[in-house]
Parts: sequence; structure tokens; C-alpha cells
Amino acid sequence: MKFRNFPIYRIEWITSIFLIGTALLSLTVVPWFLWTQYHLAADAPGKVQGWAFVWAMFVFYYYATGFGITLGYHRLFSHLSFKAKWPVKLFVLLFGAASFENSALDWSADHRIHHKHVDEDEDPYDISKGFFYAHIGWLLFRLKPKPPVTNVKDLEADPLVMWQHRYVQWIGLTVGFITPTLLGWAWGYFNGYASPGMTALAAFLIAGLLRTVVVQQGTFCINSLCHMVGRQPYSTTHSARDSGSVALLTFGEGYHNYHHEFQHDYRNGVKAWQFDPTKWIIWSLEKIGMVQDLRRVPDARILAAELKEKSRTLGSDIDKLAARLDARTRELKARTIAAAHALAKELAERSEALKEAALTKADVGTETMTELRSLLQEAAEMLESLRRADAGATA
Ligand SMILES: [Zn+2]
Ligand SMILES: [Zn+2]
Repeated sequence: MKFRNFPIYRIEWITSIFLIGTALLSLTVVPWFLWTQYHLAADAPGKVQGWAFVWAMFVFYYYATGFGITLGYHRLFSHLSFKAKWPVKLFVLLFGAASFENSALDWSADHRIHHKHVDEDEDPYDISKGFFYAHIGWLLFRLKPKPPVTNVKDLEADPLVMWQHRYVQWIGLTVGFITPTLLGWAWGYFNGYASPGMTALAAFLIAGLLRTVVVQQGTFCINSLCHMVGRQPYSTTHSARDSGSVALLTFGEGYHNYHHEFQHDYRNGVKAWQFDPTKWIIWSLEKIGMVQDLRRVPDARILAAELKEKSRTLGSDIDKLAARLDARTRELKARTIAAAHALAKELAERSEALKEAALTKADVGTETMTELRSLLQEAAEMLESLRRADAGATA
């Protein structure tokens, strides 16, 4: 791209300076500060005391602002996957603002469009425009005049959401930067440190600046990596993927294939063993009466989606394998292929029946569910052996 053609008029200056500036400072000033502090003598002037407190604040702010986005902005406000009492709402609005990802209202408006038009041009963070665009590029450049916001009428009726929307940058600055700095100073002052100002500076750099960048990059992965890395056990009609390792970076949002298939479920990692701390917090908050009406997709519907998807991949894998086999092996494998086709067909039929049963709320009985789960397992094993045979056939 020639520089004179660079779309300077499209740059979102304030957002860009903030995002790039905080990231650059975290990569330069923060390590330099830590390095010089490490090499200062214990009684040197300017030596920071109270590092344990500073890092404890970092951890607290990391989780508080991260859950502000995943539990608050995402699962509560964008998807209404549960109802929350005002203290929970206030908490996620305050700490969501301190993650500097815009107001809950704007975030939800963009996110609802993302689900409605996923992978299409209208998708605000369309992954088909590449990793960089979906991760952060969409925030740096204004690609077209922003369409009027019409999909968050429910949130506009919530005075707490509107209060945060009006003052979001001030709230973010106060909660995200000024408060940890003041707490650092107070900790130093009341503990009688030689220079409480240095503890305040360390708190500003670590719990304020560095934490903002780490949480932003982590939550931005929901729009980028979650649409690139992992498997698609529930659907291949969209780019969203399930990945345990991306879940580690994103407070449990890495199970994004499930999430796009069943967006109103408060769980993203729907299996009990999947790493989804956001789900665990919501579940715990329900136990102490702070949230209610958790929405769960019935197990039968989830299994129906898995069966359907497995039937599809099994079907396409058999065809690929059959096309590659030479005449002699084809005869030998004919029986396996026929069996695989029969299984794929059965999966598809059972998936339809199960979905129907789930929709009409008919009782599906644990025996049937167990039988279908073992059918799913059988298909997974067959797929595995077919893929091995396929690898053998091409070798
Ligand atoms: Zn998505
Ligand atoms: Zn979502």
C-alpha cells in the first residue's frame, strides 16, 4: 500500500493512541522499571517497598476487569444468559469500564451484530478480514460510518447501564488507574515506608497500565483466536472454534464454537471438565442469591448438534477416503465404508429425532442419552481409524 493512499481519515485517533501507547509503554517502561528496581540496593532512595501488595492488586484487577468483560459485558448484557442483582451489575460496569473496551452498551451492540452476521461484511470484527483486523484493527480504523445503534433497546432501559455509558471513560480512569495508584500510596504511607510515592508509581504501572494491556490482549483473543484455533464439534456453519488453550487466555471464552451455536447459554465450556472460570463464578453467584435464571440449553439439544456434526464429518471423510483407494483395496475396505456410511446416516437421523424431542420438551430418558453418547464415541473412533487409513492410502 502506497503511503499517500493510506486511509488516514479513517484512523480512530484517541482509541489508537490509547491502545498502541499503553501496549508500547508496557513493553518498554514497565520492564525498564522492574529491571532498575531489581538492581537498586535495599536502602537506596527510590526503592519500591510493598511489591507483594502491588502484585496482589495486579491479580485482583486482572480478574475483576476480565470478568467485567466476560461475565458482565458478554454473558450478562450482550446475551442476557442470566439475571443479576444490582451489586453484581455495578461491579461489572465499574470494572468493565476499567478494562477500557468502551461502554457495556456499545460493546453489546457490536457483539450482537457479530453474532447475527458472523463472518459477513457487517460483522464488526469479521475474521475473514484476517487475524489483525479481528483482534485490534477494527478498533483502530473506522471502515464506514457507524450504523445507528438499534439492537440494545433493552439495555437502554437500564439506568445503571446508561449511567456507565455516559461516564465510561471517567469511570475507567478512576477505577482502573487512579484507585490502584492511591491504594499503593496509602499502603506505603500507613506502613511507614520511606517513599510511599514509589509504591504508588509501581501500583500505577503494574495494576493500572500493564494489567490494562494484558486484559485487553486476552479479551481481544475472543474475536481473533476463538475464530481461528481449535475444533468445531457443534457446527461448521461459522468460523467459531473450541479450544482449551485459548480458554486459558480468555477467562473461559475459548469454547466459542459451542457459544456461537448456543449463544444464550451462560456456559461457554459446557462440559463439566472444560476450563470456564466465568461459568463457575456465575454458578457460585447463583448459590449465594446474587444472580438468577441461568439459561442452559438442554443436554439433548447439545448432543443432537454433536451427532449431526459428527455425521457430517464422518460422511465427508468416507468419501475422501473412497476416492483415494485403488480398486483392490477398495474391495477390501468396501465393508468398512458401508458401515461408516450407515453409522453417519444413523447419527443424522438420531440427531433429528433428538432435536425434535428437545424442542417439544419430550422426556429423552438417560438410557437413550447414554446410548447416543456411545454412538458418538463409536463414530469418533471410526473417524480416527478412517483418517489413519487415509494417511496410509496417500503415503
Ligand atoms: Zn465470535
Ligand atoms: Zn457472544
